[in-house]
Amino acid sequence: MKRELLVGVLAVSLAFSTWVAEPAFATGTNPEKKLKEIQQDKKKAKTDLNKTQAELNEKKKKLQALEEQVGKLDEQIASHTKKLLDNQKLLEKQDKQFKETLVRMYQKNELDYTAQLLASDSFSEFLTRYETLRVILKRERAILEGYIETKNKIEKEKAAVEAKKEKQAPILKAAQKEYQSIKSVLAKQTNNLEKLEHQEELTKEAIEEKNRLVREANGMYSGRGTGVLQWPANGKVTSGYGWRSGRMHEGIDVANSIGTPIYAADSGTVSLTKSNPGGYGYYVVINHGNGLSTLYAHMYRSTVTVSVGDKVRKGQRIASIGNNGRSSGPHLHFEVHKNGNPVDPMKYLP
Ligand SMILES: [Zn+2]
Repeated sequence: MKRELLVGVLAVSLAFSTWVAEPAFATGTNPEKKLKEIQQDKKKAKTDLNKTQAELNEKKKKLQALEEQVGKLDEQIASHTKKLLDNQKLLEKQDKQFKETLVRMYQKNELDYTAQLLASDSFSEFLTRYETLRVILKRERAILEGYIETKNKIEKEKAAVEAKKEKQAPILKAAQKEYQSIKSVLAKQTNNLEKLEHQEELTKEAIEEKNRLVREANGMYSGRGTGVLQWPANGKVTSGYGWRSGRMHEGIDVANSIGTPIYAADSGTVSLTKSNPGGYGYYVVINHGNGLSTLYAHMYRSTVTVSVGDKVRKGQRIASIGNNGRSSGPHLHFEVHKNGNPVDPMKYLP
């Protein structure tokens, strides 16, 4: 490899490495490293999340158990309330009955006490009658007292249940608070994990983009063209492709001063460098490996920096404009061959 070419390749490599680094990762960080870090963070975030989820499940179980307990207490209170209502009805009924009996007794016995006494055939008969009524009254009063006792008993039980519920209330409240706080931690962690997943996605895309650029760059050095040509030199097109004064002009002429750079129109491999003093002067052919070849003519040998077999990159300088061979002034004669036949270069140039 010629020294100039080596320098050129180095320069191109340097240019290329900055070119790759700049657009793909402006921060200057290595995306593979970043991805690894994100994935580690993600792993940790997942572990944390699972822990929190387990904790939340446990708290939920505890909360549900407490809620169930309070629910049972509520049921008991409701049942006691119903029992009290039922008992109250019986109690009122009995109370009424008791009072009626009292009134009846009073009217029949107490008021007519003397009359009864006098009306009795004997004192013992009076006593018997009086005793019977007394027993009836006593029995009704006992029933009434039974209802009152029942009422007191239910009320006491109900109060005990209510006290129990009251005692449970702060415990339940604390459990609810605990559950809510862990739930919010879980929400934050879920959000964090989602963010990391998004970052991972973006980093993966950055890596994919970088790898694509590297593949493209490799393609440039593999001697294969992109299929899209660039202008091989700055200048004025002084002659086009086609018939010109009775003979075929198989390329275009780009006129400019001697020493103007000539660039490879596309990436490829130099397939020919040749001197033809009576015609093309010193000329170069590049094979682009996709059916296309380009030819550059009228240069001086000393300006040509490539040799046969060299892989060139699209836009790489290969020579300078000369006025060598059958040439009426400094210009580049440029040809494009498709599958070995010359075609109009203008069809391939932007
Ligand atoms: Zn020409």
